Amino acid sequence: MSSKEEKIQMLQKEFQEVNAYNRPTYCQECGGIMIFKGVGEYECEKCGYLAYDDYGKARNYLERHTGATSAQVSQATGVSQRSIREMLREARLEIAANSNVFLQCEVCGASIRMGRFCPKCETAYHRNLEEKARARNDKMAGFSTEIPRGEDGSKRFRREGL
Ligand SMILES: [Zn+2]
Ligand SMILES: [Zn+2]
Repeated sequence: MSSKEEKIQMLQKEFQEVNAYNRPTYCQECGGIMIFKGVGEYECEKCGYLAYDDYGKARNYLERHTGATSAQVSQATGVSQRSIREMLREARLEIAANSNVFLQCEVCGASIRMGRFCPKCETAYHRNLEEKARARNDKMAGFSTEIPRGEDGSKRFRREGL
């Protein structure tokens, strides 16, 4: 339905800012586009390299360590406590397993346990971002083997030193 698409477009900008979480856009191995696979996991469409955004890293850790504090998650994953607090505030992370709070997908209204979008709408959102990343990559065709180094990369390295 086109109204859903419009709504995704509308949410795009805000979602991108609030929800960036160091999402991998380009493959650090080959510069290919990282395709969203679900729950913070991305796979390079060219070489199959797997990477996780902050949400994926924190989520994976919490799955194995139920009830971990944000400090523990931060220490184990390298995700800043600030990002973790952001995710908690948005209910992107589900720390209390027996919580009976139900959320609604902001696009289609489906019941969800965490986050802002149901898996279907989140995937649609990411497909959209991937198209944009692809268009940007095509524009820089001559440099396609270069991995863009932006503010993101330096932030990540800095954090590893902490
Ligand atoms: Zn790759
Ligand atoms: Zn939805």
